[in-house]
Amino acid sequence: MCIFCKVVNNEIPHHKFYEDDKVIAFLDIKPVNPGHSLVIPKKHYASIEEISEEDLAAMVLAAKKVGRLLKERLGAEAYNIVLNNGVAAGQVVMHLHFHVIPRHTGDGHVFWPHSDYAPGEADEVFNKLISPLN
Ligand code: 5GP
Ligand code: ZN
Repeated sequence: MCIFCKVVNNEIPHHKFYEDDKVIAFLDIKPVNPGHSLVIPKKHYASIEEISEEDLAAMVLAAKKVGRLLKERLGAEAYNIVLNNGVAAGQVVMHLHFHVIPRHTGDGHVFWPHSDYAPGEADEVFNKLISPLN
């Protein structure tokens, strides 16, 4: 059974601070900043492609509640809501989860560097995105 299914089933210790019928939120064991939380569906889905719209809606609403708690209870100035969807995107635990990461001005975390398009590249990418699916 996957590690987050064990959390859902209360089989391993964790700090759960939010629960409804579809999702739970608990503290990440290795926080980017204190209060870094994970929002997960109670049902196992590996990715956002698999989850039902109902469960996904519950995840988004729970992430919003968690963000509010991080601000009101922990004094976060802001927060990132992050989904690593797939191994190449950094997903390690293959049970879909949102990270909700409290942020403070000057906390030093830079999540990714930006780059520039080569001449014509943005048009190429754009045309692929808007061309009809076969
Ligand atoms: P991913 O890279 O898959 O998006 O993130 C997985 C997250 O789960 C990591 O931030 C990691 O610290 C956290 N994590 C992994 N195992 C456990 C665990 O057993 N308990 C808790 N609370 N968090 C975990
Ligand atoms: Zn699972």
